[in-house]
Amino acid sequence: MISSLEILIPKNLNEALSLLVERKNNCRIIAGGTDVVPGLQQGSNRFANSELLIDINRIPEIKSITQTREKISIGGAETFSDMLQNQIVKEELPLLWKACSTIGSVQIRNRATIAGNFVNNAPCADTVPALLVYNATIEVESLSSKKEISIGEFLTGPYKTKLNKDEIVTRINIPIPSKEFRGDFYKLGRRRAVAISRITLAVLTKTQNHMIDEIRIASGAVTPIGIRFSDLEKLAKGKYADDKFLKLLSQKLGEQILNVTGLRWSSEYKLPVVQQMFYQLLKEIEHG
Ligand SMILES: Cc1cc2nc3c(=O)[nH]c(=O)nc-3n(C[C@H](O)[C@H](O)[C@H](O)COP(=O)(O)OP(=O)(O)OC[C@H]3O[C@@H](n4cnc5c(N)ncnc54)[C@H](O)[C@@H]3O)c2cc1C
Repeated sequence: MISSLEILIPKNLNEALSLLVERKNNCRIIAGGTDVVPGLQQGSNRFANSELLIDINRIPEIKSITQTREKISIGGAETFSDMLQNQIVKEELPLLWKACSTIGSVQIRNRATIAGNFVNNAPCADTVPALLVYNATIEVESLSSKKEISIGEFLTGPYKTKLNKDEIVTRINIPIPSKEFRGDFYKLGRRRAVAISRITLAVLTKTQNHMIDEIRIASGAVTPIGIRFSDLEKLAKGKYADDKFLKLLSQKLGEQILNVTGLRWSSEYKLPVVQQMFYQLLKEIEHG
C-alpha cells in the first residue's frame, strides 16, 4: 500500500527545477508512473522516502519531437505511443521505433515515457540498445546548469546514472544516421507481449559491396546494463561480411557477453541464443 503522498504539477520547466531544489529531501519526479507507482506499491527501496511526487507531464518544453538537418530531438516526457505515431521517429530511427513498439501493452505505452525508461537504468530497459547504437546524447538541466552527455556515459551501472537529485532529463538528441545505415532491433522475452526482456540486441551497419565500413552493436537485458561492443566493432571494420565472418562475429559476441557477466546459471541457455539471434540479425541485414 502507498502511504499518503503529496503531488505537485508544475506548469513549466523552471517551476519543476525550483521545486527539486526547494523540496530536495524527499521528492521524486514522476512522468508516466509505470515504474514509480508499482515501485511505491511494492515498497521498493529505490523509492523509499518519497513524500512528494513532482509530476512533469504538463511541461511543454519536454514534450515535443523536433528535427533539424543534423539531429532529431525527443522530449524526455514523450510517451511511447506519441513516438510510435511520429513519422520522424518511424522513418529516421526505425530501431528505436521498433523498440518502443515492443514495450508493455497499449495502456503502458500511452503513459510510459522515454526518459523514465532509462533513468532507472534497469538492465531490461528496451530503448537503451537502440539509443546506444544511434549515439544518442542526453540533455540534463538543473536550475543552475545544463549539460549534454552521451547515453553510454549517462548510464553508469545497474539502476545507477549520472543524474543528480536536482536534475531533469529534458531531451534526448540523436544525430540523423546516414541513409546507408541499415539495422535491426531484436527482443526476446518469456512471451510475446507485456514481458520483461531476457535478451535485447540492436545492430546498425554500413557496408559497401559487403565490406563492413562501420558497425555498431549493443545489447541489453543479457548484460547488467545496456552496452556497446567497441572491440567487436573495431574487429569488424573493413572485413568482408560473408557467412564465415558473421558466424565468427556472433561467436565473439557470446564470448564478450560471458566476459562481462561471468558464468551464470542461465548462461548455458542464453549464450547460444544470443549468438544465434545476432547471427540471424546480421544475415538478414546483410543479405535480406
Ligand atoms: C506492466 C508493465 C510492463 C512493462 N513493460 C516494459 C517493457 O516491455 N519494456 C521496458 O523497457 N519497460 C517496461 N516497463 C517499465 C516501464 O513502463 C518503462 O521503464 C517506462 O518507460 C517508464 O517510464 P515512466 O514515464 O512511466 O517512468 P516513471 O515511473 O514516471 O519514472 C521512472 C523513473 O524515472 C524518473 N524520471 C522519469 N522521467 C524523468 C525525467 N524526465 N528526468 C529525470 N527523471 C525522470 C523517475 O523519477 C523514476 O525514478 C513495464 C512496466 C509495467 C508496469
